[in-house]
Amino acid sequence: MYWCDRAMVPARAKSRTMRRVFRRTPRGTKKVFELRNPKKAHCSVCSRELQGIPRMRPSELGNSPKTAKRPERPYGGVLCSGCSRRRILVNARGTHD
Ligand SMILES: [Zn+2]
Repeated sequence: MYWCDRAMVPARAKSRTMRRVFRRTPRGTKKVFELRNPKKAHCSVCSRELQGIPRMRPSELGNSPKTAKRPERPYGGVLCSGCSRRRILVNARGTHD
């Protein structure tokens, strides 16, 4: 292979920024490039995956209702259920450092 064989490869084919998806078309399979989904949200204390938070791009999140984006409770979307339970108990007892 010579250096010039790869000279005109489009940038989207060289970078892994876009997701590669193989779509079946009437003429066979075709490679298409798609945007990747963001990572799942994680708890800020124990970094466990948070439940009830959709994996959407910010443009999609803007269109969806606020109640669909995070649990409607104190620390919803920031702490996992166990950590928020512990935090609420500690705050109520007034024993936090
Ligand atoms: Zn946690």
